[in-house]
Order: sequence, then structure tokens, then C-alpha cells
Amino acid sequence: MIPFLDLTRQHAALRAELMDAAGRVLDSARFILGPEGEALEQDLAKHVGVAHAIGVASGTDALRLALAAVGVGPGDEVITTAFSFVASASTIVMAGATPVFVDIDPATFALEAEGVARAITPRTRAIVPVHLYGHAAAIDRIAELGRTHGVAVIEDAAQAIGATYAGRPLGAWGDAACLSFYPTKNLGACGDAGMILTNRSDLAERLRRLRHHGDGGRYRHLELGYSSRLDDLQAALLRVKLGRLEAWTAARRRIAARYHDALAGLPLTLPIEREPARHVYHLYTIRHRQRDALAKALVQLGVGTAVHYPIAVPGQPMFGLPAERQWPEAARASREVLSLPCYAELTDDEVNQATRAVRTACEGL
Ligand SMILES: *Cc1c(COP(=O)(O)O)cnc(C)c1O
Repeated sequence: MIPFLDLTRQHAALRAELMDAAGRVLDSARFILGPEGEALEQDLAKHVGVAHAIGVASGTDALRLALAAVGVGPGDEVITTAFSFVASASTIVMAGATPVFVDIDPATFALEAEGVARAITPRTRAIVPVHLYGHAAAIDRIAELGRTHGVAVIEDAAQAIGATYAGRPLGAWGDAACLSFYPTKNLGACGDAGMILTNRSDLAERLRRLRHHGDGGRYRHLELGYSSRLDDLQAALLRVKLGRLEAWTAARRRIAARYHDALAGLPLTLPIEREPARHVYHLYTIRHRQRDALAKALVQLGVGTAVHYPIAVPGQPMFGLPAERQWPEAARASREVLSLPCYAELTDDEVNQATRAVRTACEGL
């Protein structure tokens, strides 16, 4: 069986370095807002080319705090995509605001820029584009819409670390950008962790306060905040992995290219990399009308797959909106998408075996 994802391979290869990093933190007994977290913030700010990075407890919290920092609250509307992990939208609700869903461009799976333009109202306070699967949304156009309308842009870059648009890293386009280090992400912790990136020093200062109970120093609390700090143990492990990220991304891109060549001509829709985006293939996601039958056949042929995501966000029970009618592309994607194994430790043989299995499965449908 080729597992859809196998983190044990990554950890086996890095074991000595990871243990060493963890030991360093245990010995220092500095676990919260310590030197490792600060070092990771600096490393990541440099990696993405932004002025500030603020470590928090998860990607979800990164979104929640970024929304709070730009002033999103009750009565506000926040525009986001109809097709993503639920946190892209649920955090808007947590902030007390109303998510306004925009349908996706079916070629890139990202929210469609003209749909964003049409959704802007006087109540719009922010736009949250998601660079889904590691491919950029039309971030140049969306950033321009934000500037024109005086609306904050918060990039959900949870799946897109290392990706670029027109040569500029994702995460460096918006007023702020949110990263997740959930274990399965391209840069994954051994637990929960997240980060907010920004070039705005006013936001950076407020975010540092918000993540620690609105603290202004010496137990003086300036505003209502959160308990959401990046822990140093995770930061130390992430610093080890950050050193490998570029090689891992290159490996993901090689695997994607091999899938692309080997699966061309089959009755499938393959993911695209649309100029001027550079994809990091957090997920290699194909589409097929008989997705469930294809997934079942692939399991029988020894290939693990996963569905990201089986329900369009507005159609989630927590929202209960008529996705089929109002966001047809998101609804169609939720029925058709299937992610194939795509991670740096996959062997050439496994990639060959997976492509043969997809071919056989397609012929049998
Ligand atoms: C993973 C993810 C999040 C949430 O991150 P957590 O670290 O799991 O809280 C948000 N948005 C997207 C698009 C994600 O993939």
C-alpha cells in the first residue's frame, strides 16, 4: 500500500536533528515565547521576505488574530472562498463578522477575482483569499481591489508556504498572511502551530499583544486578547524542517511533473500551474466525475487517496447555505476532487505504481 501521506519517513530521516532540537528546549526550560520561537519568526520573515512574523498556536488562530488585528468585528462582512478548509470561513464567524462566499475558478480552485470585485459592499472589512493546494489565488488583482476599496487583505497561505506569484512569495502580498504548521502541511510541526506574516508594523505590534491576553507588559492588559502563543518545542522542530523545505518543495514539484506526464490523455482533469504562479503542490488533486468509484478502485490497487474537501464551505452543516445553487463550481469540485500521494519521501517506484494504478482504475470505470 502506498500511504496517502507518511510522516514517519520524514521523521526517521531527521530523527537525530529533531531529538537534538527538542533536547535543547527541554534543557533550557523556556517553552513559551522563548528564543526558538523568536528565531523561527526571524527565519520565516526572511524566507517569505516580510518585515514581521508573529508565532501563534495554530493556523486557525493566525486567521482569528489577523482578522481581529485589522479590526473585523460584528456588522462587518469578510469575503472569502466557497471552497477551502472550514477555518478560512469559521474564523470570520468567530470574529463576529459575516462570511461572504465567492465561487472558485475551477482551473485553480482559488476564489475568482471578478467575483470578489462584485461581492464588495460598504460593509466589507476584509478579503481572505486562500491559495488552495499550494497554487496562488489571483493575488495581484485581489490586493489591488483591497487597496482601491480600503479593505484589508489577509492571505490564507496555510497550504502555500514557498509558493510565488509573479516571482513574489505568497504571504508577502496582503496586509497580513497566515501560515499553518499543522503536521500534514508542507512545513509541519509535531503538534499545532501557526504564524502571521505582515509588513505593517502597526499590525505586528497589535498581534504580539493579541496573542498574549492583550498584554502591554508587566501584567498590564490593554485590550481583550487571546491565549495563543507558539510553543518553543514546536518552533525548534520547525527550524530543523525549514532547512529542508526548499528541497521538499522541489521534490513535490518533480512528482507533480511526473504525474502530469504519466496521466495526460486519461479522462481526468489534472491540476494546472497557471502563469505567473509557482505551485508548491501541498496537494496534487485531480478531478473525475466518478470520484468515489475511482477512490475505491485505487484503494484496491494499493494507493491511498484523500478528498479535500467533500463539502463546499457554505454547504457545511454549520452554514447550511444552498451551495449547489449559489456556488456551483465549489459544489462541483466537492464532488469531483481526489488528492493523490504527493510528498518528498515518495519513491520513484511508488510514483510509477500510483500512475499505473490510476490508469488501470480509469479503464475500469
Ligand atoms: C490547515 C488550514 C487552516 C488551519 O490551520 P490549523 O493549523 O489546522 O489551525 C486554515 N486554512 C487552510 C486553507 C488550511 O489548509
